[in-house]
Parts: sequence; structure tokens; C-alpha cells
Amino acid sequence: MTTVLEPATAQAMAEIPAAGIEETDAAVARAKAAFPRWRAVAPGDRARLLYALAATIEGRHEELSVLEARNAGKPISDARGEIGMTIETFRYYAAAPERLLGRTIPVGGGEAMTFREPLGVVGLIVPWNFPLTIAAWKVAPALAAGNTVVLKPAELTPLTALELERLALEAGLPEGVVNVVAGPGSVCGRRLVEHPDVAKIAFTGSTEVGRGIAAGAADTIKRVTLELGGKSANVIFGDADLEAAAAAAPLAVFGNAGQDCCARSRILVQRSCLDRFMFVFEDAVRAIRVGDPLDERTQMGPVISEEQREKVASYVPGEAVVAFRGSAPEGPGFWFPPTVLAPCSNHDRSAQEEIFGPVAAVIPFEDEADAVRIANDTIYGLSGSIWTRDGARAMRMARAIDAGALSVNSNTSVRVTTPFGGFKQSGIGRELGPDALEGYTEVKSVYFAVDPAASAPGELLDPAAPDTESIS
Ligand code: NAD
Repeated sequence: MTTVLEPATAQAMAEIPAAGIEETDAAVARAKAAFPRWRAVAPGDRARLLYALAATIEGRHEELSVLEARNAGKPISDARGEIGMTIETFRYYAAAPERLLGRTIPVGGGEAMTFREPLGVVGLIVPWNFPLTIAAWKVAPALAAGNTVVLKPAELTPLTALELERLALEAGLPEGVVNVVAGPGSVCGRRLVEHPDVAKIAFTGSTEVGRGIAAGAADTIKRVTLELGGKSANVIFGDADLEAAAAAAPLAVFGNAGQDCCARSRILVQRSCLDRFMFVFEDAVRAIRVGDPLDERTQMGPVISEEQREKVASYVPGEAVVAFRGSAPEGPGFWFPPTVLAPCSNHDRSAQEEIFGPVAAVIPFEDEADAVRIANDTIYGLSGSIWTRDGARAMRMARAIDAGALSVNSNTSVRVTTPFGGFKQSGIGRELGPDALEGYTEVKSVYFAVDPAASAPGELLDPAAPDTESIS
């Protein structure tokens, strides 16, 4: 059995059976057996089953929110929003089975057309920061496209994923279509990556583990989608609505206790407005309500584990580098206060590495070119924000920053309807929006010979034209 902890109290909240190689193989076998039946379900029926799953989750909205809030240590208001997005994701992709369109392509002698075919069994490996929501980003499009899935949640946060397996059956999905294995990444995750019957791995997690997955998937030429780390820039120009930018900046980095791949953890502020920005920003950071995840007023909870707290603390070696901090409760639980390091250089370790905790680095810049240079001076390219009142500058910056999901005068990164994913070492592939579906299908091209004679070179061709076949 594995003990699941509650980060706010450091106490056990559940005991679950620990899965290993045998359970992983059994889950893959169930998914493989269910695949022929699931891919053959008529598109309208598959759609109805996915709408039913969305409705079943909605019926448990509050219960799942409380479970997620307790297990991941996140504020209950955030958890409600995440379960809401989970439901929205299943609804969005429920419409997809009837919209998986192919093309007809003009050719000689017959007809050519394309189909989008499911891949088979897909392995979905997810992290602990947004447990059920990130699972839904993968499960929903994978099922909509006709695949069956084996989902491996993070060791620290398996509880809502285990519920999802039950809810899928309750909603009427056939046995074996959704399978969950809750076990260590180094055992169950690795086995999924190596398993010859798994056609694709869709992974969200650290860049370090992602590298190993890309290498491990090479043996069986698995399809791979990687959603990895980030070190996103929040770029604030002197001509911005500074009050709005400074008031929004704290939760853009300290939301989910900074354990957000899109955290704007590098705050780039134009030097001409640095003092004014810091004045408003400090008040806003000190006002963040850090505490019990189940308290309705809480805006930030603990970090996920003691190990994570120690890792975060290593980026704050002494008070000399701290400009100011917010508060955090005393006592049990993995608490770490919102912490601002300033002024920083982009070469500092805290500005280059993904901290994945409530620590922000404020970096001054001079002008637009300087801002682009600093924003792109990272191995990552996931997200980011640009705050300015100059529309042309906003557009220039949005085109120049190498990141997959940017926002202007806002800190939002993710919507169910728009593609999400990283440039550079932040990943490969896209989730959400219509793009995600492509990642769960193969394109098949089929040629139907109708009048083969018509495909031979005809008398309409210029006899003097070069013979293309001999050229190729
Ligand atoms: P992690 O990489 O440690 O683990 C992620 C998942 O991979 C877990 O389920 C884990 O059990 C599994 N795993 C670990 N070793 C494995 C192996 N050898 N083979 C197969 N699976 C293995 O990440 P984490 O600490 O759970 O999550 C934090 C990271 O996730 C951060 O780097 C964050 O930026 C990233 N993240 C990215 C996105 C995105 O969309 N780009 C979203 C959320 C989180």
C-alpha cells in the first residue's frame, strides 16, 4: 500500500494499493482488448458517452474539488475552477468524434482520400500540480479520437485519477477504455514507455524526465507528446497600466504556490518604472492570503511535499537576496511564503532554473530589444505575458518571444479551445483546442483506382516536356 499525504497537514489522507509492472501490463492488456470495440463505436455514440462522462464528473464537482484541494494542497476556489475545466474539456472533445474530417485529393485514374485513424493504446503520464485537469487534457481527446488509455497519475496525487476510472464506468464507457495505474514513475511510467503495445506516450512533467521518455520511446518508435517545464517572462513596459500589471503579477507566479509550468517567475520590468511597479507589487504580494486550502478565502496553499519545500528553499540561500516576502502559516504542512528576489540578473540560478515554488525573480530591462533578449535567454519557451498600452509594440513582442502560449495585458495561458504547448525544451506537440486531436490520430491516405488508364500520361501532355519519372 502507498500512503497519500495531505500537504497542508503533512498527515496521511488515504492508503492506496501500489501498482507495479504486473498491474501496468494488466492495464495495457485491458486497454488493448477494449480498443477494437471502442474504435468501432459510431461517432455519435462515442460523443454521447463523452458528454455523459462530463455530466457524471459535474455531478461530483464539489466532492472532486475537495479531494483535489486536500491532496494537492491547493485553494478550494482554484480546485473548483480546475474541476470545472475538466468538465469543459470532456464537453469540448465530446463534439469531436463527429468532426474528425478527412480530405479528398485530386489525382489521376481514381480518387484519393484521407482518414484520421486512432493510434491504439495510449499511455498518459501526468504530474501532481493540476492532477485531474491535465489528465483530462489528454484523456478526452484520446478517447474522442477512438483510442483507449492507460493513465498514470503522479505518486503524490493519485486520488482524483482513480475516481475518473470509476466515473468513466458509471457514465457507461465500456470496461477497459479508461485504465488507471497508480504507481511510481520509475516503474509504471517507465513500463508504459517501453511497452510494445503502447502506441503513444503523452507526458506532462519535468524536462529532465521528459528527456528520458523521449529516449525510451525511441526503441519502439512511439509517438510522443511532451509538455515540460517553463521559466516564463512577465514583461512589463513603462507605458502599461502599471497598477493593473503589478496587482496581477503576484498570482501569475504564486498561484498554485508557484507550482505551475506557466508561472511568470521572471518578472521583467522596464527600469524607468521599476520603483513605481515594486511599490504596488510589494503590497499585492504581502496581501496574498496563504493558508488552509479548504478556507474559501485562501489564495495560496502549501507546496506539495517536504522535498519540494527543500528544493525551493535552495534558491533562497540568504535574506540578502530577498526584496520582500509574504506570510505563511507556522506548524505542520509544507509551507513556504511568497518570496521576491530583486533586482536579479537573468544569469542568476533563480532566473534560469524552474523553481516550481513561490519564488519570483524581478529583472530590470532598458528597452524593447533588451526585453526580447532577456525573455528568450532561457532553455524554455512555454508561456509569458506582455503588458503595454502600445498595440504595435504588443504585436512585435508577441511575435518575437519564443514561447507557445502568450498573453497581452493578461496572465492567462490556458483555454480549452486554444492550443497549448512549448517551444524549445518546454516540449513537443500541442494539447487542447483542435490541435490536440491530431496528436491522437494517424493520417491514412487511401487511393481508389477507378479508371487506371486515365492515370497514364495522356495525349494532352506536351511531348517536349521532360519525363518526370526519369527525373525522380
Ligand atoms: P515529474 O517529471 O517528476 O513527474 C511527472 C510524471 O512522470 C509523474 O507521474 C511521475 O511519476 C512520472 N515519471 C517519473 N519518472 C518517470 C520515468 N522514468 N518514466 C516515466 N514516467 C516517469 O514532474 P512533477 O514533479 O510531477 O511535475 C512538475 C513538472 O511538470 C514541472 O517541471 C512542470 O513545469 C511540469 N509541468 C508541465 C506542464 C506543461 O503543460 N508544460 C504542466 C504542468 C506541469
